[in-house]
Amino acid sequence: TAKQRGKASFVRYVDGMGEPVLAHMQLGAELRRAVDEGELRVVYQPIHRLDDNRVIGVEALVRWQHPERGVVSPAEFIPAAERTGLIVPLGRFVLRETCRQAAAWLAEFGPDALQEAGLNVSARQLHDPDFVADVTAALAESGLPCERLVLEVTESAVLRGQQVSRTLSELDRMGIRLALDDFGTGESSLSLLRAFPAAIVKLDKSFVDGIEVDDGRPAAADARQAVARAVIQLARALGLDTVAEGVESAEQAAVLRELGYTLGQGYHLAEPMTAGEVSRVLARQQAMATLER
Ligand code: C2E
Ligand code: MG
Ligand code: MG
Ligand code: MG
Repeated sequence: TAKQRGKASFVRYVDGMGEPVLAHMQLGAELRRAVDEGELRVVYQPIHRLDDNRVIGVEALVRWQHPERGVVSPAEFIPAAERTGLIVPLGRFVLRETCRQAAAWLAEFGPDALQEAGLNVSARQLHDPDFVADVTAALAESGLPCERLVLEVTESAVLRGQQVSRTLSELDRMGIRLALDDFGTGESSLSLLRAFPAAIVKLDKSFVDGIEVDDGRPAAADARQAVARAVIQLARALGLDTVAEGVESAEQAAVLRELGYTLGQGYHLAEPMTAGEVSRVLARQQAMATLER
């Protein structure tokens, strides 16, 4: 049963019921409760400069604090949230919370501490006719300047047609920066870059995994380096910023730096953390900067 196989995973729990449809309905119902009763939390993963390790931004990542199951990861409920449409209120919560928090950090630590706060937006949200209004309202309520907000979208979400393109162009015109998330994993990464008003490209973790390996069989590492190099050259040519995702070791960070990446995100640099923990990091950074002056 699900219980025997462990409590941590929602998917396993759901599988254990042997009733996918019923299970999906139940997950949907529980998700609705999560949204309504405030069981969702936002954690933030710092984005670091690779030369001096300074934190220059964060990515907001949603967590579900489930009353029985503990913390449930987004991989386990975002697909269901998209299927049921609950991603719209869920996404609105993450948007408002992130803008509010980023504005608070801006007020507390000044304009040079955190340049940007990013959050993930799914295809379903981009199809929502109210999405641009939601973003406008979140910025207005929080007082966060639009150029400090990054919206991360995946290639597959962008490829969903006219309505989505219009929405993305409008957000771009508002001065919000758009990031192509998990870049390189989609079907048409290159042609997409031409059509899509991206400001940032996030090199997918799969190209960072093993990028440093030198075990006498360098072919795999070479292939990843080739992709990572191609992506940064392309980004430079198009005037886009880059962030390398899933940096798990100092060796990987070094290779990425050599290839020309200036920004990275990953467990080696910092894991996702609470807003309070980010504040402590920023306070420490500020204290260090004062000492150096
Ligand atoms: P993503 O946007 O690509 O976010 C990066 C994911 O990689 C996060 O997982 C992060 O915790 C994880 N990660 C960061 N550094 C490392 C590393 O060094 N090693 C490994 N193995 N993993 C690392 P998380 O938080 O579980 O989120 C998974 C995905 O769920 C996200 O991928 C994003 O697509 C989606 N997601 C998360 N929050 C939201 C949200 O608020 N809205 C939407 N629509 N999707 C979200
Ligand atoms: Mg992301
Ligand atoms: Mg990503
Ligand atoms: Mg990813």
